[in-house]
Amino acid sequence: MNNTGKITIGKHMMPLTDIPNEIMRGDKPEEACGIFGVYAPHSDVARLTYFGLFALQHRGQESAGICVSNGDQMACYAKMGLVNQVFNEQILGILRGYMATGHTRYSTTGSSVLANAQPILVEESRDLSVMGKRRKKTTSLAVAHNGNLVNTGDLRKQCTDLGLTLTTTSDSEIMARLLHHEYSKHENLTEAIKTMLPQFKGAFAMTIQTPNEIVAVRDVPGIRPMVAGYLGDNNDPDGWVVASETCALDIIGASHAFDVTPGSAVVLNETGISQFRWRNGEETEKLCAFEYIYFARPDSYFRGKSIHAIRQRMGEIMAREAPADADIIVSVPDSGTPHAIGFARASGIPYTEGLIKNRYVGRTFIDPRERLRALGVRMKLNPLEEVLRGQRVVLVDDSIVRGTTSKKIIQLLRDAGVTEVHFRVASPPVLNPCFYGIDTANQEELIASQYNNGGNDWSALAERLGADSLAYLSIEGMLEAFGHAENELCLACLNGSYPIPISSQTKLALNKYILEPDKERESGNGEVLTSDEELSAL
Ligand code: SF4
Repeated sequence: MNNTGKITIGKHMMPLTDIPNEIMRGDKPEEACGIFGVYAPHSDVARLTYFGLFALQHRGQESAGICVSNGDQMACYAKMGLVNQVFNEQILGILRGYMATGHTRYSTTGSSVLANAQPILVEESRDLSVMGKRRKKTTSLAVAHNGNLVNTGDLRKQCTDLGLTLTTTSDSEIMARLLHHEYSKHENLTEAIKTMLPQFKGAFAMTIQTPNEIVAVRDVPGIRPMVAGYLGDNNDPDGWVVASETCALDIIGASHAFDVTPGSAVVLNETGISQFRWRNGEETEKLCAFEYIYFARPDSYFRGKSIHAIRQRMGEIMAREAPADADIIVSVPDSGTPHAIGFARASGIPYTEGLIKNRYVGRTFIDPRERLRALGVRMKLNPLEEVLRGQRVVLVDDSIVRGTTSKKIIQLLRDAGVTEVHFRVASPPVLNPCFYGIDTANQEELIASQYNNGGNDWSALAERLGADSLAYLSIEGMLEAFGHAENELCLACLNGSYPIPISSQTKLALNKYILEPDKERESGNGEVLTSDEELSAL
């Protein structure tokens, strides 16, 4: 424990980095965190946040945390693991207050260790003399961040120049320290945000919490999502909520009010909800295309559009662009299922469940050692032989990144007696890495990049994966399904056009361990936690 933060190192985290890659990461881009915040003085805000995080679990499974404020003090609890592993009745009972923020993490800057769990609470105490008496004054601020900065090195230097000590290896802590430094000057959060946020280059949606307010902010041009809603009656709400996705509003019975616009800050405090611009001028929102393709839960809505409906439409258009002569349509569950249903609807070929997902293979229970390595994809998917044997199959997936899992799934189908596999990927090929908070793998790992010849002939990649044919959805087809113009999305990993400028030098320098040059990993981890006394005091 120290007076500039609330980080203690304990003893009980599993070394997640030892788990075989193929089991841990599969063949999908990995999301980079879910965020939730609620201001509701008459509610159990820790429990509401717990359920909000539960709904956002798909966005990050490495750690979870909740920070509460009661107008005077703040307390934060975070730990490695899934939301329902991190929190129990006792902890939720201790986290009392009238506002809370929460975070589920997938690491994109900094190792998957407890010290990097969020929300990150920064507290600094200094002695004051008030009417001749010495008093201790504590300034507290917590940050929960989704995204990735592209000027991390410059900001780290700024911290060093200001004498700010970094105790973690995430870009999120840099933002928290710099915001706290500015905030502690006058305790004016609005001014601190207006001063600091224009200096943060990259993708970020985050909550910034003090003892008496929560401010949710979104980057320009709005690559990472953030929505706002209310509890109770629209005319007289019981509280206000912000979250990465609308599904986190639904789970606590909140209603969607609006999507936070890029460059805006939404303030939740005793006066209700208000907004201000931290950056002048309007910019076209460029939400990450992969939110629509894969990341967001199908029951979420962005910009008024149903994710589920969009994914089905992608499948329909895929069937139009690359039809196949086959007996059944099978999806790679669960994320490929809406696309497969759309493909079936448009093609007239019946959709059938052919691969059964083992939904309860949690990371916690995966033995990282050699014994389970050989099981690979079978741990996640089991083929239904009686459905598949002798069939010509269209296998539909939402996306592929490295191709490793796709090859194994196709082999599973072959082993189950499938006679032909026509692989249809209902999104465009991932050709470039992401620098905005999504772990899409390095350029050399992107399998489509290795086989890209600038056209639509993917026969060499089909052969590598063991498929009889392979086709991707075109960018035009995807835009048609989204109902958005090209300039209304980030498409960088698909078309190489990065909406936040990033130099080739920075591209080379940026990686998950930019703040860990020696890639030193903590193996004995603990929990980010205020002391029991402080928790109880709330
Ligand atoms: Fe999303 Fe790709 Fe843009 Fe990254 S590069 S934000 S994954 S669309």
